[in-house]
Amino acid sequence: MKRMRKCPSCGAYTMGETHCGVKTKPAHPPPYNINDRYAKYRRAEKGI
Ligand SMILES: [Zn+2]
Repeated sequence: MKRMRKCPSCGAYTMGETHCGVKTKPAHPPPYNINDRYAKYRRAEKGI
């Protein structure tokens, strides 16, 4: 199975080694605790 790669320049997912003339990076899965930063905002609103 080929791994997806991501272009650091435009953010597109690709199978290619290069995109937009730059080397692509292995695509990482999104952070599992992506809601955490919203929780921080909520805490900031409350002033805690
Ligand atoms: Zn690109």
